Amino acid sequence: MEMFDYLIVGAGYAGSVLAERLARGSGKKVLIVDRRPHIAGNAYDHFDDAGLLVHKYGPHIFHTNSKEVFDYLTRFTEWRQYQHQVLAFVDGQLVPIPINLDTINKLYGLNLNSFEMDQFLASRAEKVEKVRTSEDVVVSKVGRELYEKFFRGYTRKQWGLDPSELDSQVTARVPTRTNRDSRYFTDSYQSMPKFGFTRMFANMLDHPNIKVMLNTDYREIKDVIPYRELIFSGPVDEYFDYQYGKLPYRCLEFKHETLNQALYQPVAVINYPNDYTFTRVTEFKHLTGQEHAKTSIVYEFSRADGDPYYPIPRPENAELYKKYQTLAEQTPNVHFVGRLATYRYYNMDQVVAQALTLYSHICGCNRAEAMAMKTEPRVTTITFPATLVHSNGNGNGNGNGHHSNGKGNGNGNGNGNGNGHGVRLANGNGNGSCRTRNRRKSKVAIPDRDH
Ligand SMILES: Cc1cc2nc3c(=O)[nH]c(=O)nc-3n(C[C@H](O)[C@H](O)[C@H](O)COP(=O)(O)OP(=O)(O)OC[C@H]3O[C@@H](n4cnc5c(N)ncnc54)[C@H](O)[C@@H]3O)c2cc1C
Repeated sequence: MEMFDYLIVGAGYAGSVLAERLARGSGKKVLIVDRRPHIAGNAYDHFDDAGLLVHKYGPHIFHTNSKEVFDYLTRFTEWRQYQHQVLAFVDGQLVPIPINLDTINKLYGLNLNSFEMDQFLASRAEKVEKVRTSEDVVVSKVGRELYEKFFRGYTRKQWGLDPSELDSQVTARVPTRTNRDSRYFTDSYQSMPKFGFTRMFANMLDHPNIKVMLNTDYREIKDVIPYRELIFSGPVDEYFDYQYGKLPYRCLEFKHETLNQALYQPVAVINYPNDYTFTRVTEFKHLTGQEHAKTSIVYEFSRADGDPYYPIPRPENAELYKKYQTLAEQTPNVHFVGRLATYRYYNMDQVVAQALTLYSHICGCNRAEAMAMKTEPRVTTITFPATLVHSNGNGNGNGNGHHSNGKGNGNGNGNGNGNGHGVRLANGNGNGSCRTRNRRKSKVAIPDRDH
């Protein structure tokens, strides 16, 4: 049986970036497995039954201040410029969030300028001796009334905890603006992959040295398929059989709907801090730019049980993770990377950066060498028009994966014509000059940026 240099668990950002770099940058033979029936991890998007491109696991918006990360991903996708905007439904009105000048003027029927808004907030802000909890952070900045209108209900829904029980870090970076800037993110690079995230991942994994196996838990194959080292991007507590107990996560439930109307809401995301049981509603056409007679939306509900999504930021959980981290550091020939393996909420760009750092440690390269292409990726074009215009479509593509046995399912996305776009093999060899340092544990730097 073929010997793989690396078995990679998880085909999300962490696993796919490492597979791409090890294959294309170092000429390594890689098997990447995922227990889900698709690549792209939580960033997976696909065409639904109406032919609308939707994000299965909730809205994903790419934003970063890292030129390196942006340039790296640009090898695998074209981009569509997109500035994310979010509104909050408060007191029966839709107002911008983060709170800005328009939010305050609309909510209170005022006509303040920036200077007056500063004074308005200062007059309401409460003195808090020592900022410890999320409640303290917000109340000390904008006062109790705005805290109750925008933050308390949302946080309770999102985390199942009152902000007074949550670490100050959770809301520490919630910005308040005294100008009219209504962008949700202010990063230098904000774009959506022109043909979707899954297509970008398919291009990334399109290399003869990479085999993809889907619908497969790594435990099913770890003793059967020979490999030299393991890269693990699944849950770290699961890897160690929960020997110290389960790491707590907040879970999500998504309710997708297709509506018989062209547009549902004015922006991609509307938050509902106080009304209804869902936290927010996303309309995907704003993100994708797709034109279609119908529209698809998703309601998000926060849950105590289910798939792990958000690590719960409480000190006791950080302590529990530390125990697993120690075990991870003592496990030879296994590298832990990504949001689940390091028990931390990361944005997509942060996971890409973390994976690139791990790769440079593994191959003993400096950063520039680690980024070197070695073989050109083949960016496959797509069969639907660039405008993503669909009149209909069945969404059932016949994309294919690379399978080292007959187990994996297709990972293609169908378009209106039923053409899949699965992972395809590129020509060319991944011979590289990076040395691979086997048996060396890597410490991965955590990128420093806003969540
Ligand atoms: C609702 C939501 C919205 C988000 N929105 C944004 C956003 O707008 N912008 C942004 O930058 N980030 C966003 N993120 C964060 C983004 O999803 C993550 O940064 C990214 O998906 C992390 O990639 P990863 O590879 O670490 O993990 P994942 O994408 O979760 O990939 C891990 C993969 O490992 C697989 N796996 C686990 N265990 C096993 C096993 N035993 N065997 C086989 N396979 C296994 C899983 O099936 C999964 O596919 C959002 C997250 C959530 C939850």
